[in-house]
Amino acid sequence: MTSNGNFLERRVGLCRMIDVLMTSIIVVSSLIIAILIATAPGTSDADCLDIAVIGGGIGGAYTGWRLRDRDLSISVFEYSDRVGGRLFTTDFPAAPGTYLDFGGMRFRANAHPTLNRTATEIGLKIVTFALGYGNADETIWYTRGKHMRNTDLGTSRTPYSLALQEMKTPGALIWSLFKNNVNYSKNTYPSLDELYNMTTVDGTPLYKMTLDNFYGRFASREAYKYIYDLEGWAGTVGRQGALHSPKATASYPGDTGPSEEFKTIDGGMGKVPQALMEKFLNASTSHKLHLNHQLLKIERRQSGGYNLRFRKTHTTDGITTQKQFSTDVTVCARKVVLAAQQRCIQEIDIPMFKSNPDIVKNLDSVVGIPAGRIYLAYNTKWWKNGNPDITHTKSDQLNRQTYDWSTGTNNVSIIMASYHDGDLAHYWRELSQFGTPIPGSLPGVNAVTDVVKNRAEKFLSAIYNVSQSDIPEAVGGAMMMWDKYPFYAAWDYFKPGFDERTVRDLVYKPSVSDHIYIASNSWAPRNLQEWCEGTLIAVDAVINRYFKDSN
Ligand SMILES: Cc1cc2nc3c(=O)[nH]c(=O)nc-3n(C[C@H](O)[C@H](O)[C@H](O)COP(=O)(O)OP(=O)(O)OC[C@H]3O[C@@H](n4cnc5c(N)ncnc54)[C@H](O)[C@@H]3O)c2cc1C
Repeated sequence: MTSNGNFLERRVGLCRMIDVLMTSIIVVSSLIIAILIATAPGTSDADCLDIAVIGGGIGGAYTGWRLRDRDLSISVFEYSDRVGGRLFTTDFPAAPGTYLDFGGMRFRANAHPTLNRTATEIGLKIVTFALGYGNADETIWYTRGKHMRNTDLGTSRTPYSLALQEMKTPGALIWSLFKNNVNYSKNTYPSLDELYNMTTVDGTPLYKMTLDNFYGRFASREAYKYIYDLEGWAGTVGRQGALHSPKATASYPGDTGPSEEFKTIDGGMGKVPQALMEKFLNASTSHKLHLNHQLLKIERRQSGGYNLRFRKTHTTDGITTQKQFSTDVTVCARKVVLAAQQRCIQEIDIPMFKSNPDIVKNLDSVVGIPAGRIYLAYNTKWWKNGNPDITHTKSDQLNRQTYDWSTGTNNVSIIMASYHDGDLAHYWRELSQFGTPIPGSLPGVNAVTDVVKNRAEKFLSAIYNVSQSDIPEAVGGAMMMWDKYPFYAAWDYFKPGFDERTVRDLVYKPSVSDHIYIASNSWAPRNLQEWCEGTLIAVDAVINRYFKDSN
């Protein structure tokens, strides 16, 4: 009994000890977990970033650079392994001493003052872009099987059955269709307010019409095709708003467009975001760049600020995919700047945006236009045979525009064999799935297959009037298509029915009660939606309006 009692007492004692031990283990491990959670990078209040910038294109880099001296902890998160986004310059080993610009390649000093000033301030060398916007006197137009020069446009030498009043250069025709069919009598380009007050002669508010609807009512079918074929850009017709139709060309009164010299950056436009990013990172140790981070979701935190959920990605030869089996990373930030193309922003799960129909509608106010470029390299400049003064072509062939790009130190010359946009992006995307990369091709996302090369050469042969069998063997190739995530489009246009004057202001800070901002040229003024300048003015607007006190 006694021994039994002792045994029981000992057992009870032992059980108590185990209990106490277990409880202590649980308490200690909970404490450790609590401490671990609290100190996991980026999720505690103390770790909360002042600003998270999403997107490592020129918009994200410029945001960081502009805020660099404000003593803030700022991180830029980029989906891919590359800074620059749609400004993308690469070397081209097939022609040493040259570079390729796959995205933005030129700008105008007067029309794009922010870019011009910023590039100078960060020490980049601005040089003339000799190819201009396609110099009219150095251009061949080739449509419906006919070769034309500048002086043929607007005459009966164009292969279109135009009415007498439609016999004008494409730009002049667009302006006259506009002037003759809206209630506007001045001979200067209308202001934005004047545009929004305009109705067509049959009483429809211009801003509610698509371009196709406008031309459908007021232009002949031949005039429509003539404009589309000869202008060379998808955006001269289509489902975007008609409001800015004359701005689609450079032929309205007062425009300095083609006459103003185009500029570029010595070494390529990709240098701009790279230099901005470098200077932002060098300005403070609390500035960081996180490549291969895709933002998936933004949630409010109870204690203020936001939890940002990222998925890690990995990139091989320019092709970025989500990392398999990687756990998501959560980062806390007090403010978030979204610096990306419209559809990329729409794809981020932001409940505060999605639950508000007005925000959803405003974000959906633009339509993206994809584009692509194909470069081919040869040992001879065969396209100059018979066309010595030509640097540019526009055609109804599916490569649409070409440029005589440059020549390497080894005398290998490069032609931009295709600069296409709109639906043609799908055509080239499909072709790129077939064949194998040609010798001298860049790898991965920039690879040119034999199928793509042969098709491009078929169009070049017609445009330059050289038999395809006489085109020498290509010694290199590179291409880039801007039609998929994380870009979706080369540029965006407003859809009809939206008043951009209010949409733009709302989009900078979509939710009044949230510190989530959008700095993107997707909603820039029409003549800047296609240009870096549009992104820079969006960044400036966000910073000047909402970040005055962030220091
Ligand atoms: C073919 C072509 C020709 C052009 N020509 C000219 C020109 O001559 N001159 C000119 O001024 N402009 C030109 N442009 C337009 C100009 O390149 C762009 O307007 C400008 O580069 C856009 O910069 P951005 O920073 O706003 O967006 P982007 O450059 O698209 O940068 C956004 C970045 O965000 C990243 N991202 C997207 N979603 C996420 C996410 N969820 N998480 C993390 N990262 C994300 C993307 O990977 C990308 O790097 C051209 C564009 C193209 C494609």
